[in-house]
Amino acid sequence: MSGQGHRTPSAPRLAVWKFASCDGCQLSLLDCEDELLAVAQALDIAYFPEATRAPIRGNYDLSLVEGSITTPHDAERIQDVRRRSRALVTIGACATSGGVQALRNFANVCEYASIVYARPDYIHTLATSTPISDHVKVDFELRGCPIDKGQLIEVISAFLAGRKPATPSHSVCLQ
Ligand code: SF4
Repeated sequence: MSGQGHRTPSAPRLAVWKFASCDGCQLSLLDCEDELLAVAQALDIAYFPEATRAPIRGNYDLSLVEGSITTPHDAERIQDVRRRSRALVTIGACATSGGVQALRNFANVCEYASIVYARPDYIHTLATSTPISDHVKVDFELRGCPIDKGQLIEVISAFLAGRKPATPSHSVCLQ
């Protein structure tokens, strides 16, 4: 979507990042249809692998982060996402609390891997699934499984307007 429409050249750059998750929260954004068209006019959707082929490039004004941290690689990757992001918003239960995959936190993940995989030695995973806020500063948390698409549009609109999102109390502003 980057470079399309009648957007001003200085439009804020949006990135959507995926960590350990089912993609359901990102799909909420794609499911916004008419609202997404309006968003695309106001924002440069500069990185969104589910919707565009644009590579990671430079910094972003707003990052939406889906998913939890479950691997050493993702623990490094979220640091890079934070460095590139002026504002970082986590979307969904996986990103805000670790998700259903955090059930591993109460068990031995090596035992799970040995039961599930023929070659568990190929699996490079952390012992726990943790929310994004355990690793980097998060500016706003939008909770839900999946998130409510109306609330997502409200969060994006609030960011564009420079105001606090008017979402229910289960969404948490960490600033
Ligand atoms: Fe999927 Fe729920 Fe996680 Fe969103 S919060 S990515 S819908 S499992």
